[in-house]
Amino acid sequence: MSGVIEADRRHVWHHLTQHKPYETIDPRVMIEGIGMRVWDATGKEHLDAVSGGVWTVNIGYGRETMADVIRDQLLKLNYFAGASGSVPGALFAQRLIEKMPGMSRVYYSNSGSEANEKVWKMVRQISHRHHGGKKSKILYRERDYHGTTFGALSAGGQAQRNAQYGPFMPGFVEVPHCLEYRSQWGPVDDYGERAANAIEDVILREGPDTVGCLCLEPITAGGGIITPPEGYWERVQDICRKYDILLHIDEVVCGMGRTGTWFGYQHYDVEPDFVTLAKGVASGYAAISCTVTTEAVFDYFRDDADDPLSFFRDISTFGGCTSGPAAALENMRILEEEKLVDNSARMGERLIGNLQALMEKHAVIGEARGQGLFAGAELVSDRESREPAPEALVKAVVADCMSNGVIIGAQNRSLSAGLNNTLLFAPALIATENDIDEITETVDAALMRIFG
Ligand code: PLP
Repeated sequence: MSGVIEADRRHVWHHLTQHKPYETIDPRVMIEGIGMRVWDATGKEHLDAVSGGVWTVNIGYGRETMADVIRDQLLKLNYFAGASGSVPGALFAQRLIEKMPGMSRVYYSNSGSEANEKVWKMVRQISHRHHGGKKSKILYRERDYHGTTFGALSAGGQAQRNAQYGPFMPGFVEVPHCLEYRSQWGPVDDYGERAANAIEDVILREGPDTVGCLCLEPITAGGGIITPPEGYWERVQDICRKYDILLHIDEVVCGMGRTGTWFGYQHYDVEPDFVTLAKGVASGYAAISCTVTTEAVFDYFRDDADDPLSFFRDISTFGGCTSGPAAALENMRILEEEKLVDNSARMGERLIGNLQALMEKHAVIGEARGQGLFAGAELVSDRESREPAPEALVKAVVADCMSNGVIIGAQNRSLSAGLNNTLLFAPALIATENDIDEITETVDAALMRIFG
């Protein structure tokens, strides 16, 4: 293994990583995964509480049937792109739409960023064709993240993620976050309504005839696991209808059972025009993302066939890889057969319950929040003032858990400096009670060691 580690040290540029420390310590190389557990190149076993680092491996590691269906599909027809469809592409689209009443069409590509870019391209084309170039602005929310490409960074509400990469694209406008724990109005009874009204204020400031789309995560992920406040989504829906603004819900993380329902938005009374999916679609066994739209959106591109520019002139080369939808079909079968969405809801309650119980012991946890197997614990120096805990100590908790065999997450230079103080948990949806308890017991011990 030393050859592999040396090759990695010399030639691989890791994601989200400052490489200087690798001059003196070995980079971590993962070798194998089974169920909830992974082994690294030193042979160390880890319980993975973040589903492959970034909340992706919803069905767990080492699934033989996933390998089987991918192999079979590769031998049958590995790829064909452009104007042609494929058998798994058609069948997965049908199965997906059955779970999303009101939605109707699936456009395939490879990453969450790309799926989101497709939406905004569609919105811009609708603007040109149907609103004389008006209604082209895209609203996004402070603390939300939508990907790494320039369009997605332009829609990025995380200051440190964006720092040093500008200038960004015009026509993207930020609306305020909806994290009640960090209320912009102090303690209020109607936080959800106020946070939604703040979106309306931005629309009125910009001019409703300039705004085409509002893009939101159903539950903000990397921005701190923000479960929306009471009444928020309902009011957001009203605002979109009132000003004829298309609603894009970014389910790249929350989709496919992560939050205890098939899709995060299904916790609320809301009807999106676009839904984007990626991570859990094939749980990292294949690269696939989906831009899902209503038939009404699709109709904008189907009508007026005499105009040679009327259709969506977009392609994703690897959106033609058939292993993606083949894997997605099997992934969905596993989620259904093993009732993993229900398990996410049940185990999620245990996870949040355990984290909230830790609050009695550790004053450093200011708030524990989440939905399904997607939870966060915000660390503070002082509960009264809610002063965020120093980021170095938040990182120390993650490192302590790692050295004790449990991989948890935390924000990494994403929000403004000082605000990256939330521990993140997103175990695979196969997690058992013992797994959940092992995760929170390890966090308990880490907090004890670091904060006393
Ligand atoms: N949207 C959300 C909510 C995300 O959390 C992410 C990635 O973490 C993305 C989009 C981007 O997905 P990808 O990294 O596949 O481009």
